[in-house]
Amino acid sequence: MDVFIDILVMSLMFLLGISVGSFLNVVADRIPAGKSIISPPSHCFSCGHRLENRDLIPLISYLALRGKCRYCGASISARSFMVELITGILFVLIWLRFGVSWQLLTGILYCSFLIVLAVTDYEQSFLPGVVIYAGIGLALILAALGSAIGFPPDILSATIGLLTGFGLIFLVWLASWLGHKKILLFAHAVWGGLVGAFLGFPLVVVALCLSVPVGLLIILILRLMRIRKGGETIPWGSFLALSALITLLCGDAILSWIYPVFAGLIK
Ligand SMILES: [Zn+2]
Repeated sequence: MDVFIDILVMSLMFLLGISVGSFLNVVADRIPAGKSIISPPSHCFSCGHRLENRDLIPLISYLALRGKCRYCGASISARSFMVELITGILFVLIWLRFGVSWQLLTGILYCSFLIVLAVTDYEQSFLPGVVIYAGIGLALILAALGSAIGFPPDILSATIGLLTGFGLIFLVWLASWLGHKKILLFAHAVWGGLVGAFLGFPLVVVALCLSVPVGLLIILILRLMRIRKGGETIPWGSFLALSALITLLCGDAILSWIYPVFAGLIK
């Protein structure tokens, strides 16, 4: 019986995830273009035909239509499908990690912000300020509420995380700017602050450190697969989003592994 309930709850989390993922696609498409996320209703980017409910079922519509518009046959970006699928899987993982808890709520909210910013940075080298600042405001409010009911990260940890994330990336941005090598955007520093506010201190340091090997590995894979050529701006915000998600799910385990190593080094 327990197994049945587990499978039922995981399925519900997956359905919630793919539905939220569908909305995140709309946000990632419209916010960078300065458009409203409410109106006009979803339409085909090619022929402009308004999409009906049967065209908007997460995952299913894309598969049923084989990635093409029902009305004009234009290809629909596979990213929509991937974002829905990945959001669904992440919601299940967050559920498995935290169960019914405050962190389940904050985890799925943070996960949603991370996905939108990962997509916009990867596709357009753009991190919309409105999303980042809304995320920072939300993280601080949730941290204050979390402090009141005794869940991490508390407001002090979130604030130190915010300053640490911003400060460290700001230094890298400043060094690259002074060296006339614009490998990062200033928005990446604010983005680092957002990740810090989400995760708190010291988990933000784990996410930042992790983003370097994660980024190098992804760049290597993309070059080998010839998906992304050399010389383009590094979508580091996307790598940080992935690192932040890994830290959200297993940061405590990573920390408990790192602490003894550091303690050993100090001795
Ligand atoms: Zn169309």
